[in-house]
Amino acid sequence: MFRVFASSDGHKTHSDNQQRTVFPEASSNDEAHLRHVRVAILGAGFSGLGMAIRLKQHGHEDFVVIERAADIGGTWRDNTYPGCACDIPSHLYSFSFALNPHWSRTYSPQREIRDYLSCCARRFDILPHIQWNCELLNASWKEDNQRWYITTTQGQLTADIFILGNGPLSEPSLPPIPGIERFDGVMFHSARWHHDYDLTGKRVAVIGTGASAIQFIPHIQPRVARLSLFQRTPPWILPRHDRPIPAWQRVMFRILPITQRFLRTRIYWRLEFAALGLVYRPGMLESAMQIARRHLLRQVPDPLLQAKLTPQYAIGCKRILLSDDFYPALTRPNVEVITDRIREVRAHSIVTEDGREHEIDTIICGTGFHVTDTQLPQYIHGRGGRSLNDSWHEGPRAYYGTSVSGFPNLFLLIGPNTGLGHNSMVYMIESQITYILDCLRIMDRRHLRTVEVRPEIQEAFNTELQQRMRNTVWTSGCTSWYLDANGRNTTLWPGFTFEFRRRTRHFDPQHFDLIPQRASAHIGEAAPIYRMR
Ligand SMILES: Cc1cc2nc3c(=O)[nH]c(=O)nc-3n(C[C@H](O)[C@H](O)[C@H](O)COP(=O)(O)OP(=O)(O)OC[C@H]3O[C@@H](n4cnc5c(N)ncnc54)[C@H](O)[C@@H]3O)c2cc1C
Repeated sequence: MFRVFASSDGHKTHSDNQQRTVFPEASSNDEAHLRHVRVAILGAGFSGLGMAIRLKQHGHEDFVVIERAADIGGTWRDNTYPGCACDIPSHLYSFSFALNPHWSRTYSPQREIRDYLSCCARRFDILPHIQWNCELLNASWKEDNQRWYITTTQGQLTADIFILGNGPLSEPSLPPIPGIERFDGVMFHSARWHHDYDLTGKRVAVIGTGASAIQFIPHIQPRVARLSLFQRTPPWILPRHDRPIPAWQRVMFRILPITQRFLRTRIYWRLEFAALGLVYRPGMLESAMQIARRHLLRQVPDPLLQAKLTPQYAIGCKRILLSDDFYPALTRPNVEVITDRIREVRAHSIVTEDGREHEIDTIICGTGFHVTDTQLPQYIHGRGGRSLNDSWHEGPRAYYGTSVSGFPNLFLLIGPNTGLGHNSMVYMIESQITYILDCLRIMDRRHLRTVEVRPEIQEAFNTELQQRMRNTVWTSGCTSWYLDANGRNTTLWPGFTFEFRRRTRHFDPQHFDLIPQRASAHIGEAAPIYRMR
């Protein structure tokens, strides 16, 4: 029987937990009893938690965080596979307002990052605001009273402002391989690792060679009887240089936080330099390509294996990976790298295009996530009942990845075109949070009921992005999860991150349609919209 396991590390969905209803059930005549909040935030990962903390620091108390799981951390709660760690140095991959002097390594392991997030939630007193085991089912903007009606597995609530922090990499993607449903062994995705299943002595197939696979393969290879790695495209891999952070340094960071801030700034600029090659001068990436080639030649002596592992596209076109132990693991006698495409999966085997049948007990999918084709947009309905999915039928687009025309008072964290191939996502999240906070400040000061980005502004912004995208390495000819079904890069920010930060430092009301508070008195009437000149 085909079995896909959920994570055994505390990730619970509403179906695992028959919880009491905490928000009243939706019905037309009990509307007065619905809980109303100023701000509802979806998700308790870096985005949702960061937003909640900054709201609190700015004096907002009337907010709720809706989280489908039973624990904090998002990515860092769900990905518990062996070897899981960040690939941006921890000094930078953390909140600027909550530096952590205790990181144990340059690239800290998953558990430490999850604990860091839990610690932040406690330290900034966010836990009382979180509604656990509460999955969003639907959110609709109601024109008559200018609010979001949010339906969850625990009932309904309303909110003036709705902020989505549901994560770009939170829906695991399984490969659509013929026959996979007939597989009779154990199969799971790397983001839902099955810790109770012992891999010792098993014949294991790993599908995919992305960021997660290269982290867990070195950890499982010594235990398994046989590891068949099914590779579609080899990644470019650079040396990682991970190391423990000495105790004296940790003491120094604690006593003299400025030293950690200095190091953080240095890491930021070192990584930011890569944007020059990725976005503006792909030719500059030649030296990185040489380092990656030398890394491969040094670690893999067999010329046949070297050839299989040598990428045939420009470095940076797909995500550049970091590892010191992936290549050595592939040289072990119990590992085979298979580059023939998979034709079908049978009850106990995988058959490749060359007709070979590979006997296996277990399949581990390191096949990434739904990024440009996630489910959530179908459940978010804006003006006129139009879903975000319909609005994005030609591919996701927003204004600074944060606002979408037709969706008043809705904000996205890590929305379209805010992803990075070279630097910390927390930097982008914090930039967006600043923008949203400034918007809330202006709404309060000017007594605004709603803000909605003007369609022509959103259109012009996306035209600019796609024009800039043309010269980047990401459109140099490879296929990647950065691109949507139409081949447009709707995932990454095509520029320096400091430019994104500068442009989102202040909310720009002249680019939005604004409806004043007093208009809400005329329920049912068309509200007057004004624009700033
Ligand atoms: C293995 C891995 C390693 C990574 N390493 C790095 C790195 O080194 N550096 C870097 O910059 N980025 C890295 N990333 C990217 C990472 O996803 C972001 O940096 C960041 O963690 C995203 O935070 P988030 O809060 O936006 O999303 P998430 O962490 O995914 O959190 C989203 C939250 O929303 C909740 N949610 C989603 N849908 C619903 C719903 N319908 N109802 C209720 N709740 C919902 C989820 O349960 C989850 O808790 C990595 C990603 C992965 C998968």
